[in-house]
Amino acid sequence: MPITANNPDRKTWIETPEHTDFPIQNIPFGVFLTRDDIITIGTRIGDTAIDLGALHQLGYFEGIPLTDDIFLQDSLNDFISDGKKTWRLVRNRIADIFDNTNPSLRDNEDHRKVVLFSLDEIEMQLPVQVGDYTDFYSSKEHATNVGTMFRDPENALLPNWLHIPVAYHGRSSSIIPSGIPVHRPQGQKLPNGATEPIFGPSRLVDFELEMAFITTDANHLGEPIPIEEAEDYIFGLVLFNDWSARDIQKWEYVPLGPFLAKNFASSISCWIVTLDALEPYRTESPKPIKPVLPYLQYEGKKSFDINLEVSIQPEGKAETVVSTSNFKHMYWNMAQQLAHHTVNGCPVNSGDMMGSGTISGPTPDSYGSMLELSWRGEKPVKLNEGGDRKFIEDNDTVIIRGHCEKNGVRIGFGEVSTKLLPIFKK
Ligand code: CA
Repeated sequence: MPITANNPDRKTWIETPEHTDFPIQNIPFGVFLTRDDIITIGTRIGDTAIDLGALHQLGYFEGIPLTDDIFLQDSLNDFISDGKKTWRLVRNRIADIFDNTNPSLRDNEDHRKVVLFSLDEIEMQLPVQVGDYTDFYSSKEHATNVGTMFRDPENALLPNWLHIPVAYHGRSSSIIPSGIPVHRPQGQKLPNGATEPIFGPSRLVDFELEMAFITTDANHLGEPIPIEEAEDYIFGLVLFNDWSARDIQKWEYVPLGPFLAKNFASSISCWIVTLDALEPYRTESPKPIKPVLPYLQYEGKKSFDINLEVSIQPEGKAETVVSTSNFKHMYWNMAQQLAHHTVNGCPVNSGDMMGSGTISGPTPDSYGSMLELSWRGEKPVKLNEGGDRKFIEDNDTVIIRGHCEKNGVRIGFGEVSTKLLPIFKK
């Protein structure tokens, strides 16, 4: 089925700011509270939020097999379970409803009044109920930088890294939408030179620049997903800030990997941009350094050219862009990650979230964490309005943005913006 929603020539009757992340070719999906405090599934064009529950009740999705309440829910999980064919039909229909040649909603003021909202009338929610969360470690530059700092520059990449899309199963309870602040975590740390740990606030709170993809129900227990089918089970992507406490991490991570250094929060952008919308931005993955096993081999372009940047905004001050990277730097792509995740028969469900791992590029200004940007604190990063940062300080806001751009069409993710508050006090 063609993705007519991606037609680059299409114009909309919705007033849309220039350079918006959300032209009519994007049509992302999210969940929001309306001005009447009703929760609904919606989309966005420019700075206008669109209530898909209301559109459906008014009959605009006639002919598409959808249950009556599919958009009147507090998460996208059931809609995602409907599968790729339905996502595509709905996106194509939305593009048609808002096409500037289509008068049906454009010229119906009564309908427009219940369907359209300005962004200040809505409150974005977590778009999916995340069942399982997995975090990969798929940027060669990031793995090399971390290996160089913490182990051995000569053997920075561990022997398994070029063969396995390395990952760990995370937790989903603290995945939060953009705008929700996070407290500085406390925990055990081993001070330099000490032999016994102390307890206290993490002094090395960091962001990790990541993206995450969201899956649909893909397989039954015992049944692997072949790599050539993997993308059929990916609904879309969000920006992902995988908060990390480096001092807690350093003490706790041997032998089973990160735990409290990571599970206090991960923040996501609120609009899920579909894999369909990203179709025009496919690009080559980095060339494999070693041959990969057959279940990880693929044909065609499975990476996506998504420009990413991270800013730090101290309280009351202007932002400073501290990193500029790109999703295409990932050594292991999403199809490989999902094929690997399920090769032993591990089931994947609707709303599961897979973090890419920190996306560092090849140059020092493209590193995806303060750990790397400040090289463990040895090279503080200068801020535009004076001062510098080795790690994130109390009341700093970390903002990640991302967008694709090609042939005059820009498809973006908006932002994930999170303030770091001081430690929690009763
Ligand atoms: Ca991570």
